[in-house]
Amino acid sequence: MRYISTRGQAPALNFEDVLLAGLASDGGLYVPENLPRFTVEEIASWAGLPYHELAFRVMRPFVAGSIADADFKRILEETYGVFAHKAVAPLTQLGANEWVLELFQGPTLAFKDFALQLLGRLLDHVLTRRNERVVIMGATSGDTGSAAIEGCKACDNVDIFIMHPHNRVSEVQRRQMTTILGDNIHNIAIEGNFDDCQEMVKASFADQGFLKGTRLVAVNSINWARIMAQIVYYFHAALQLGAPHRSVAFSVPTGNFGDIFAGYLARNMGLPINQLIVATNRNDILHRFMSGNRYDKDTLHASLSPSMDIMVSSNFERLLFDLHGRNGLAVSALMDEFKATGKLSVEDDRWTEARRLFDSLAVDDEGTCATIAEVHGETGYLLDPHTAIGVKAARECRRSLALPMVILGTAHPVKFPEAVEKAGIGAAPQLPAHLADLFQRAERCTVLPNDLKAVQAFVGQHGNRGKPL
Ligand SMILES: *Cc1c(COP(=O)(O)O)cnc(C)c1O
Repeated sequence: MRYISTRGQAPALNFEDVLLAGLASDGGLYVPENLPRFTVEEIASWAGLPYHELAFRVMRPFVAGSIADADFKRILEETYGVFAHKAVAPLTQLGANEWVLELFQGPTLAFKDFALQLLGRLLDHVLTRRNERVVIMGATSGDTGSAAIEGCKACDNVDIFIMHPHNRVSEVQRRQMTTILGDNIHNIAIEGNFDDCQEMVKASFADQGFLKGTRLVAVNSINWARIMAQIVYYFHAALQLGAPHRSVAFSVPTGNFGDIFAGYLARNMGLPINQLIVATNRNDILHRFMSGNRYDKDTLHASLSPSMDIMVSSNFERLLFDLHGRNGLAVSALMDEFKATGKLSVEDDRWTEARRLFDSLAVDDEGTCATIAEVHGETGYLLDPHTAIGVKAARECRRSLALPMVILGTAHPVKFPEAVEKAGIGAAPQLPAHLADLFQRAERCTVLPNDLKAVQAFVGQHGNRGKPL
């Protein structure tokens, strides 16, 4: 499989190089040159497969030519073997034809484990074969950091530096990162906010002199391998609910358009999905596009669902590429316009095309808490604030009551106690068994000023298993 850039000016790469690449050299994002398409008979024959075996069948075309079948099978079995629930991604029924897909049974209790557990193992496999070491730098507002560290902790060829804003992530989130100890794991608390952290990552990709030739790898959701891994659970859920012989709808709490873009790809690969609902919090740039064809940058609002607090959605460019007939120059012009003006809209027929599949809703903190309370009252089930936004959007936007509606359950409620408390239901979520002693574990973290040079000096000093590069 070859991968091309959404801006049409970068060389095509194979899977292995895309895994290590991050942004394309023309500033675009990599997408498959040709999306695989499965027949109804093929998809039907996968019913009942264990998660890792289904994952092999869905993802095999994407890694073809780079990862041998036997290696890929073993990697997938290991990856999904660390999940706490035997079903890996179990479905829980909330109401009539309404289901939560629990994507928080992995080591760090958020859906990001699905992709980052795999990414870490794929990196290890490829780097061992190449006899190469890399440095990962990532910024996190909470969930990505812990999932990336968990995914890479066993990779001998990776040194991982994760920056989080000092004192601005929840204690559970911080401890999930800082209690994983290892020579190759470095947590940096930056005296600044999340955007400061992200800016330093971007600046480091732009000028890599401080790495003395060591390659820098991205773990945010622009990395194609993350999107690829997320396609699988759409198939897994839909197969259990009667696909491919019946259509299924999904409601997806989203910020960067990563998770929902994976659903869009699943549909284009042959899975009968009749509706995809974009569920956002008050940071609603995606909702403004879907409801009114206005993709306009706004200021950032801190919300009770912090993992969706974004101003722009990095993966949206991948959808724009398809909406423009995969014309990279058209996308490039649009993104230039967006960069200059902070605004973007598309021609009417392209927007109408998007609206055939997508609906959207923005839910504020009040609506989030009300939904947590509503569902808890109906069923006793406790939602995390992100998932609650998905449930609210599903109930408001649903097109057909006859078809199953699946809400992606993106995190375990214990990660976001503030929202659960504000919902006023008197129930406090408990840490699952594998994290029961989280508050007793030793932490390791370095506090650094909001200063690029200081951060880069730190990476240079510790980037080789704790020793200088
Ligand atoms: C990252 C995250 C999201 C948003 O995912 P996108 O890929 O940006 O759409 C939603 N919920 C939780 C809990 C997350 O950690």
